[in-house]
Amino acid sequence: MDFKFSDEQLKLRKEFFDVCKDLEKIKPKGYVGLESNYDTDEGWEYHLHCAKEFARRGWLALDWPAEYGGSGTMMDRVFFAEARGYYDVAGADVFGVEMLAPTILGAGNDDIKRRFLPGIASGDVMWCELWSEPNAGSDLASLATTAIRKGDEYIINGQKTWSTGAHRSHWAFAVVRTNPNAEKKHQGLTFLLFDMKTSGITVKPLLYMEGGHYYNEVFLDDVRVPVNNVVGEENKGWAVTQMLAGFERSNLGAIMCMQRQLEDLVKYCNETKVKGEVTARDPLVRNRLAQAACELEAARCLAYRIADAQSKKEMALFDASAVKITSGELQARIAHMATDLFGSCGQVKISRWAKLNGFFETWYQHHFRLNVAMGTNEIQRNIIAWSGLNLLRMK
Ligand SMILES: Cc1cc2nc3c(=O)[nH]c(=O)nc-3n(C[C@H](O)[C@H](O)[C@H](O)COP(=O)(O)OP(=O)(O)OC[C@H]3O[C@@H](n4cnc5c(N)ncnc54)[C@H](O)[C@@H]3O)c2cc1C
Repeated sequence: MDFKFSDEQLKLRKEFFDVCKDLEKIKPKGYVGLESNYDTDEGWEYHLHCAKEFARRGWLALDWPAEYGGSGTMMDRVFFAEARGYYDVAGADVFGVEMLAPTILGAGNDDIKRRFLPGIASGDVMWCELWSEPNAGSDLASLATTAIRKGDEYIINGQKTWSTGAHRSHWAFAVVRTNPNAEKKHQGLTFLLFDMKTSGITVKPLLYMEGGHYYNEVFLDDVRVPVNNVVGEENKGWAVTQMLAGFERSNLGAIMCMQRQLEDLVKYCNETKVKGEVTARDPLVRNRLAQAACELEAARCLAYRIADAQSKKEMALFDASAVKITSGELQARIAHMATDLFGSCGQVKISRWAKLNGFFETWYQHHFRLNVAMGTNEIQRNIIAWSGLNLLRMK
């Protein structure tokens, strides 16, 4: 495969990188990755500010059809994700821009497209995903939240959990059970959109192990949602959910985020002396950095290949699983490597001893979530086994 891009593509790619470089300069202190959008008011304000900057350039709708404001291609969208990942900036709502918009374009009717796409493109409406429940994660189809239709409304009752950013987001997309008597559990599910200010919604924090407030439990008590907020058809929400999950797992910005981390570590090793010798001359350090560079290059090739397949609508189910596992597990190894390099200073963040502003202490704590969020790596390996390798399915 040839990864050469046209001059025009490279010019736009540079523009993405230039704008993100400027936005990096105004990041709030301690901002690291998506989760920082939700924890503090400064993080949320920064997220909204970056969204506006991208929206006015039309970048939140890049590869959409022209009638909804699109002006680019799938590959432009990839370059944009790379730039955001490299500079670790906010602004492209992972739930609205990355997941819901392509799902609405693929499965929503004209009314849904007309009502919900403009708010995503303008960066005014931020979304959260209400899928997982206390007893339904990997086995999402066994979810218990019901939405019983009464006239022109559904009345929703149940509990969702692990809802990232639900305490700040404006709207939610949820999967709910509209037919409790369906023969099979994945039948009778519906994909619904609702305003998080609707009466009957209670959001409670689910604090991460270091105390950050990124995730939530969401309680739904007699929440009334108009029936015309369904994406796809009533009782056929499983197909819509599957479609969105494919967008959820194509993890492209993460690769560039790691590229930057590697560059920062190389610079650190070239500039830091331990016991009188420059760290970069330690054979074990060189070995680990070179190994990480090789793995990163392999991950980048995989991600580009998948982006290319996605742009041709040829992406296989296991492709998304492969890139999710590859990038998440590599991030874990890079976080471990960095904390090893920093020695005991690797364990501190808010301290004069913290290295590189404690960035890797945060990643060390956060890499654990990458193996679980967006479907666990065990489940992704199962998908690769039956869908990619044609191994018999588990009973
Ligand atoms: C940081 C974070 C953010 C999240 N954000 C959101 C969000 O915004 N919205 C949302 O809806 N959900 C979110 N989730 C939920 C996430 O999708 C689920 O945690 C995930 O799907 C796993 O479900 P579970 O936690 O119920 O674990 P379980 O499904 O109970 O799994 C427990 C363990 O058993 C393993 N396992 C289960 N079934 C199998 C099998 N068939 N074969 C092999 N192993 C198996 C799993 O891999 C896992 O190790 C988030 C989770 C995390 C950790």
